[in-house]
This record gives sequence, structure tokens and C-alpha cells, in this order.
Amino acid sequence: MDTRIRIAIDGPVGSGKSTVAKRVARAMGYTYIDTGAMYRALALKAKRKGISWDDADGMTALARSTSVALEPAGAEDETSVVRLDGEDVSRAIRETEIGGGASRIGTIPGVRRALVEMQRTMATAGGVVMEGRDIGTVVLPDAELKIFLSGSVEERARRRFLELQGKGKTPVMAEVIEEVRARDHQDSTRADSPLKKADDGVEVDTTAMTREQVVEEIVDVIVARAKRAVRTADGGVSL
Ligand code: C5P
Repeated sequence: MDTRIRIAIDGPVGSGKSTVAKRVARAMGYTYIDTGAMYRALALKAKRKGISWDDADGMTALARSTSVALEPAGAEDETSVVRLDGEDVSRAIRETEIGGGASRIGTIPGVRRALVEMQRTMATAGGVVMEGRDIGTVVLPDAELKIFLSGSVEERARRRFLELQGKGKTPVMAEVIEEVRARDHQDSTRADSPLKKADDGVEVDTTAMTREQVVEEIVDVIVARAKRAVRTADGGVSL
């Protein structure tokens, strides 16, 4: 019998975690869950309602009264459709400003508790690839497979730069590097659930991952391990 496990993929901005997570999900026939999109959707709602991203009480109440759903976007498109209270906000949440807002609201414990609860519910049936910052450490500490992707600031900024250019923007490299550094700092120094590798996680440095072949190699290793998963007599899972 096929054992459908939970795969946690964490890492900083531009580490390649979305690319890897989507491909692993597709190869395994698993559900891909982008938790960053949930923080982004909530940041977008706050902006529209005029609630400050630093207002802990206001943001916590907002998180508790908001529905954020992720739907598969169809076979040829690997990304998810992100629904904020039913509305498709998949595009709107990708603005740089909203990413910064997501990082700000991610420091608020009440916001994290509400979103973590939704994320755990999404993963209960197994067969998921969940990506974020705290999946292996907090959301799914007993995930069967935990990967932490890292990479140099310069390379991650270069990827972000190309991504912005691809969207028709005219980024300035020095500013993109600064933005990546600021996000790294905010995410890894916050008191609640900082970005870090789980003790039992496997770290993969993706600095050299500019080549498609390297992405495929990482995906292949994760998929090979996930396919070995078998249920043990005591109800656990062995890989
Ligand atoms: O992954 P993405 O860049 O879309 O995430 C946006 C922000 O949301 C991150 O910089 C981080 O501060 C926050 N986040 C988080 N915990 C997660 C996923 C994202 O705090 N599990």
C-alpha cells in the first residue's frame, strides 16, 4: 500500500523552495501547500481594510475571521489559486510590498496561531508538500521528510531580480539585495517561529541551482525517499 507522507520544505526568499516543492508534489501526486501565500493574502486583506500590519490585536482578529484557501490551478500550471474569503487574489499577493507586509504580520503570535491551525488541518490526510519558514519546526514537527533549502544572499537576490524583470519591472540590483537581506533578518530573528532548519531536517545549499539539472537532481532525491516510505507495525513511517 502506498504511504502518503508529509514533506516539509523550508527556506529563505529565493532559495528555490517553491520550484522544488511544486515539482515534488507533481511527481508524487501530492497536494502542494504554499503557506507564504496565506501570510500574503492576510497582509493584502489588512491593507485593503486599513488595518496596520503592526497592529497585533487587529491582525489577530482579522486572521481569526478570514478564510484563506489554496486550490490546485490545473495540470499545466503548477501554482495554486489563492482564495481570500472566496476571491482569487493569486496575482495581487505577489507584489513586493505585500511580501514585506506578510513578513511583518508573521511576527505576530496570534496571526501565526490562526494560520498554523489552518495549515495543520490541510495536512491531516498526508500526501502533502508544504513549503514555508516554520513547517519542519512548528507546523508539522513530525513530518516524515524535512528539507531546508539555503543559498547565498547574492544568488538568491539574482533570482529575485530576474523574476522581477520577467514581470516587466526594472529592478535595481543593490535594492533587491537589500530587500532580501532585510527579509532574511526579519524572518530569522523574530521571537515566534523564526526561520531555521529543524534538528532532523536535511539542508541543501541551492546556490548552484541555476542549472535546471540541479533542480531535477534535488527533486529526484526527495521523490526517491518519499517513494520508499512504508508504514511500520507500530503505526509510524520508515523511509
Ligand atoms: O514564501 P513567501 O516569500 O511568499 O512568504 C512571505 C513571508 O511570509 C515571508 O517572508 C515570511 O515572513 C512569512 N511566512 C512565514 N511563515 C511561513 C511562510 C511565510 O512567516 N510558513
